[in-house]
Amino acid sequence: MKISGSKPDAPAVAGVLGLDQTDLYSCVACGLCLPHCPTYRVTGADTHSPRGRIALMQVLDEGKTSLTTEIVEAFDTCIQCRGCETACPGDVPFGALMEASKEVIETTDRQTPWWLKTALRTITYPRLLRFGSSAVALAQRLRLLPPAFRGIPQRMPINRQQLQSSGDDVWLFTGCVMDAWQRNTHFATQQVIEATGISVRLSGDGAPCCGALHTHAGLGRQARKLANRVVSALPGDNPVLVNSAGCGAAMKSYGTLLNTAEARAFSARVLDIHEWLAERLNSLKPSNIAEHRQPPIKKRVAVQDPCHLRHVQGTHGAVREVLQPFVSELVDLDDDGMCCGAGGAFSALQPQLAAEVRNLKIAAINRANADLVVSANPGCAMYLAAGGVDVCHPMELIAQALNDG
Ligand code: SF4
Ligand code: SF4
Repeated sequence: MKISGSKPDAPAVAGVLGLDQTDLYSCVACGLCLPHCPTYRVTGADTHSPRGRIALMQVLDEGKTSLTTEIVEAFDTCIQCRGCETACPGDVPFGALMEASKEVIETTDRQTPWWLKTALRTITYPRLLRFGSSAVALAQRLRLLPPAFRGIPQRMPINRQQLQSSGDDVWLFTGCVMDAWQRNTHFATQQVIEATGISVRLSGDGAPCCGALHTHAGLGRQARKLANRVVSALPGDNPVLVNSAGCGAAMKSYGTLLNTAEARAFSARVLDIHEWLAERLNSLKPSNIAEHRQPPIKKRVAVQDPCHLRHVQGTHGAVREVLQPFVSELVDLDDDGMCCGAGGAFSALQPQLAAEVRNLKIAAINRANADLVVSANPGCAMYLAAGGVDVCHPMELIAQALNDG
């Protein structure tokens, strides 16, 4: 494909994809985003770069081409990590362009495989999800799981201890897969919040799923339906705390997704747990953290920034702030927040490419020579763990430090 080095003129009216024309033609094809794109780093193909994908959106939107296999492949291989957005000097809103393009393609050409649609439907039914997860956990113990399930956490819980609300100062969003597979992270998060003297109300089954995975797959109608459910299920003015970077990013964008005053007001209440805690570190009980002259966790801990915390929410710095008092040595990876390859359902849809992207991340982790990695996103943690990385959520580490201290 020919890539020009200047900004093309935007057509006066929206085209086939219905994209915002100012956004679509704000790319000047400078290529400064290319080194920050994980798929371009792996393949070196321009159609696997942000610049190439935007050029394809333009010709498709202008009706100069039909939806070819090459275009579908270029879009399907985008992890939607949005590393290109933070690297772009022109603030091209790549994520919004890709999400809108995928929704149109999904609506007109039915690209999403049936098994993914079934899985995305299942996760919106919490009881069914928990029942299915327990069955999978049992099959895991009996070594009956087919290789396709290799990416899920080792020894998933068969039974789950109940979480209990302790009041209603803040909401804690519990979500879908994280609640079924990684409830320990919720227990740890609730413990840390309550150690600041704040009571927790759990979102529970009334707000079953944030819809982030649906948006990622181009299933916009389902994503909006789920967003509406979440907004209705968590009324009031109290903060909505989220310990999954992907869910938090999605919920912070409900205002844009639903375009209502109610949704905008809701999004303004959503906070990533780390940005919330960073403002309250000194209220942590039982002991004031300043009394910890020696951090209780004596490990070299590497921080992996989930893309939706770093590139979308921009709150990754808070993870370091809240861990600092508790960990003897915190290290950053040297890859400028490159994606780990998980990307919603990306690792299941594009296993080969995802694994090659993860190899780059694992190489960065190995260079950091850490004892442990922390990740504030369940999808990243699961995918890294499946690649042999010792990883946990920052809240689990802080809860452990509070228990030990
Ligand atoms: S997306 Fe931004 S950084 Fe990338 S080529 Fe376009 S203008 Fe340049
Ligand atoms: S969202 Fe990520 S994978 Fe997609 S073009 Fe941007 S940097 Fe590359």
